[in-house]
Amino acid sequence: MSGTAALAAGDRLAAYDFGPAHPFQAGRLDAGLSLLRAAKVLDDGDLLAFGPAADADLELVHDRDYLEALARFAAPGAEAADPVGAAGFGLVGDNRPFPGMDAAARLVAGATVAAVDAVAAGDRTHVFAPVAGLHHAQRRRAVGFCLVNDVAVAIARASRTWPLRVLYVDLDAHHGDGVQAAFYDDPRVCTVSLHETGRYLFPGTGEVHELGRPPGTGRSVNVPLEPRTGDEGFLAAFDAVVEPLAAAFRPDLLVTQNGCDGHAGDPLSDLTLSLRGYRDLARRLHRLAHRHCGGRWVATGGGGYDLERVVPRAWALLWSELSGRRLPTRVPAAWLAGLAARPASPGPGWWMEPRRRRREEGRDGPAAREVEERNRRTVRTVRRLALPPSVRVVYPLAAQGGTTQRLPGWEPRAGRYQAPRGPLVLRDRCPASLLRRLEVDPGIHTFVRAAEQEREVLARIAEEPASEVVVAHTPEGVVVGYVAVLEPEPGTRFASLPGLLEVGAVEVATGWRRGGVASALLRFAVEPDPFADRILVASGLAWHWDLDQSGLSAVAYRVVLARVFEAAGFEVLQTDEPEIAYHPANLFVARVGGRVPPAQRAAFTSRLVRGHHPMP
Ligand SMILES: [Zn+2]
Ligand SMILES: [Zn+2]
Repeated sequence: MSGTAALAAGDRLAAYDFGPAHPFQAGRLDAGLSLLRAAKVLDDGDLLAFGPAADADLELVHDRDYLEALARFAAPGAEAADPVGAAGFGLVGDNRPFPGMDAAARLVAGATVAAVDAVAAGDRTHVFAPVAGLHHAQRRRAVGFCLVNDVAVAIARASRTWPLRVLYVDLDAHHGDGVQAAFYDDPRVCTVSLHETGRYLFPGTGEVHELGRPPGTGRSVNVPLEPRTGDEGFLAAFDAVVEPLAAAFRPDLLVTQNGCDGHAGDPLSDLTLSLRGYRDLARRLHRLAHRHCGGRWVATGGGGYDLERVVPRAWALLWSELSGRRLPTRVPAAWLAGLAARPASPGPGWWMEPRRRRREEGRDGPAAREVEERNRRTVRTVRRLALPPSVRVVYPLAAQGGTTQRLPGWEPRAGRYQAPRGPLVLRDRCPASLLRRLEVDPGIHTFVRAAEQEREVLARIAEEPASEVVVAHTPEGVVVGYVAVLEPEPGTRFASLPGLLEVGAVEVATGWRRGGVASALLRFAVEPDPFADRILVASGLAWHWDLDQSGLSAVAYRVVLARVFEAAGFEVLQTDEPEIAYHPANLFVARVGGRVPPAQRAAFTSRLVRGHHPMP
């Protein structure tokens, strides 16, 4: 499934070098490229031409006076003359200036920008920029070995110049804080970072509640993982969050930071991943690029500081995946022999570590189970915050483990609604087979780009035994609105309450809004008698409900949403669920059916506020 691939790298990038005693040094490039050449998976025609990034691009992310400071302190002796001035820009300690650093940093950014341009223009399908992904650099501050944020610069260019919607996936062991900050309020760039929790690791940020700022709320996603997470836990978190996020966000371009410093052999972190894990992650990213981004994928090398046994192999595995070039069975012996001259061990002759059994990994003890349980909780919270409920149903957690309640039966109904634009048919109990036959209005696009995909999402929700899709369609059979009623995801606050269902989506196509369709549909959807036995809830999270395309202010939007639900018998309730309190447009509504027993109602009410029950 590969198109043409390129590598954005060249010997000139060796200039980005903090010195031999520093983890980020020129040897990284040489170690990586020499292995690709020895393995005969890199030809000169694979190399992408690039020059230093232009001021106009760098200034999309950095302040001009910071860029000027980089140039000033790149001169020999400048830092010694003004150490306080240098420290003011973060050029101190691990980021101590080195001669020529501004030119070197501009070149790194130039490689990433060229990679994005080549992919955006369709010249190449995938590009890997190994010496790139300097994800910590801030607008006017060098941070964590990162002088300029090449990856943020390239994303900004992709988003403004081309213009493309960008999904940024950061796999580095450290939180991708600089990239997140650059797009924190940007609804057209979605950043997701999986990293070792900031409780123990630099830079200390990347908590689940860092979700972005209006109008980009919900577009910053963080999955902080425990030390000793390992391949299995990391891949599970990736699967539970990244793929559905891509489906919901509908990006045009995938940009990734493939830092391999989460490897067990890396001196800087404790995630205990293996090369096999990185190979599996590369496969998933590749699949995701083709499924959701028309193949467009720019990968950057990011961190990784074991230059003998880890970084070159991780790069080779990634390049092999992205270019479709097959690696030889064994790591070339001549290359290993070259490393053997160095003090560190060159590592085994196989590309990846042998597959280990769980028991050998010591992953069955109580400590390992604790790690798994904490990660599982984190992943559930992230899904609830970042994914619309309908997308969660289509992309369920691998191990559901919940008690699936079947919806009670009733005869399918049809109703009518006269919208200002024309007559509509309202229909419930829609089977997947019917949904797959109907057309979907292209104005329905909150979560998924193509009407074709939207139809598939609806059909798959309808296939769930505890889900119900209610549609409004024109007499010609074009769906212009729908309501999805779903079972809450296991592990969430109300999930274990019997008889509780969630209204996961109320959507009306853009051309049919403001005509009362949403209200009419919701009223129709909750009418059947069996719902009198149920509690229906809905979380009105702004970013789940298309606020950014509604043209409304957060407060006005909340009022509209509340009105739609209240007209269908729902009540706006107070709750301390953190995701509700997070944004002024968010609200929590419930409709307790007339036949719900008092004890069940009381159990529900007690869960609205934390403290009455053990939190999931
Ligand atoms: Zn491909
Ligand atoms: Zn890192």
